[in-house]
Amino acid sequence: MSINKEQYLTIQEHLAPHNVELIAVSKTKPNEDIQALYDLGQRAFGENYVQELVDKEASLPKDIQWHFIGHLQSNKVKYIASFVHLIHGVDSEKLLQEINKQAAKHNKIIDCLLQVHIATEETKFGFDGPDLHHFLVSGRVASYTHIRIRGLMGMASFTTNETLLTQEFTTLKTYFDNAKMAFPNAQFDTLSMGMSSDYNLAIVHGSNMVRIGSLLFGARNYNK
Ligand SMILES: *Cc1c(COP(=O)(O)O)cnc(C)c1O
Repeated sequence: MSINKEQYLTIQEHLAPHNVELIAVSKTKPNEDIQALYDLGQRAFGENYVQELVDKEASLPKDIQWHFIGHLQSNKVKYIASFVHLIHGVDSEKLLQEINKQAAKHNKIIDCLLQVHIATEETKFGFDGPDLHHFLVSGRVASYTHIRIRGLMGMASFTTNETLLTQEFTTLKTYFDNAKMAFPNAQFDTLSMGMSSDYNLAIVHGSNMVRIGSLLFGARNYNK
């Protein structure tokens, strides 16, 4: 087993007083590692790849809450719709439409976060601030009757520059506060921001859900 138990307990201790939920990001990691963290009490796990998630869901305990945190292609929603707990990276209306359709087929409501583009890198997906605003005030959200938009998710730049990170987290928190006003009666309460390298700063700036992988499971090796 290669999970870092001490790190897990330290992180949980750190998060508890702030009411921040930990999503253990287990992409590329074997089932034994997930089971080991599960045995310590962890129930929320995050995955980025549909096929990997489907395989893991089939062989791991049924009370795991699976978070899909990667870039989700519309044509793959159908594979995870029956069991996914929260989809973090919703970055287009096309994807919302498909999630709504698949959720309806399963006669359920799927919780989603809208991903907002906050990083300086071109490659990170998400709504731009103004697009998000237009979408939220359009009223179209209400037509997705099988989706509950629970909040926002963002990924900061890949940097150790705290000034830049602070700026990006603050921007996302402002979008979150504004969006919350657009959903006065909804259960809009989740701000997913912060990873292994920046979660402390993210919490300082208002995150209430962090997605942590390498601190818990060690570095990922994509070449295996
Ligand atoms: C991989 C990933 C994480 C976890 O990254 P670590 O640096 O290993 O903590 C968090 N969020 C997203 C969207 C990811 O793809």
